[in-house]
Amino acid sequence: MDILKERILKDGKVIGNDILKVDSFLNHQIDVKLLNEIGMEFRKRFGGEIVDKILTVESSGIGVACITAQYFDFVPVIFAKKHEAFNLDTETYESDIFSFTKNKNYRIRVSKKYINPGDKILIIDDFLANGSASLGLVKIAKEAGAKIVGVGIVIEKAFQHGRKILETENVRIESLAIVKSMEKGLVIFEEN
Ligand code: 5GP
Repeated sequence: MDILKERILKDGKVIGNDILKVDSFLNHQIDVKLLNEIGMEFRKRFGGEIVDKILTVESSGIGVACITAQYFDFVPVIFAKKHEAFNLDTETYESDIFSFTKNKNYRIRVSKKYINPGDKILIIDDFLANGSASLGLVKIAKEAGAKIVGVGIVIEKAFQHGRKILETENVRIESLAIVKSMEKGLVIFEEN
């Protein structure tokens, strides 16, 4: 997806060797026009599929998931919560995630009310790095008896191992920009 790659090259900042900071357009300030293009691109890629619900994880996935949902007949978006709260149902699907950007473990939760057996679920997230977040969502959807249509990722870092891990779950992965390397602050994309 050329406009996304161009934007990453223009405004993305490489932190250390493995973190790509995109908070001027994706993670903090959001460029809604770009997000809209991203939503349309996911529609193109998963166009042949029936999607009942979109599943993501708070917080960066929510914007992308909501804009994408508009291109799938405004299906509901469910976001896994990272914090326990009194107003979260007690019956939840849970999965433990390791965040390497924060260097800590956390548990994500989705109320059992919102995923039904047989639901066709599209999983969306902003990044695929080591695969822990996406894998957690895949596990939750599977535990609920849902069918996973695929995993849609805005930016995949191919030098990490998320894709390999997700492939063991037999899910289709569509990444809109695949970063091959980020050495010396230089972002290099994989060829299409
Ligand atoms: P994973 O679970 O695949 O290791 O990491 C995915 C999650 O970590 C994403 O939900 C994203 O929020 C965060 N993440 C991973 N790598 C990066 C990165 O390079 N930049 C940013 N901004 N977030 C990242």
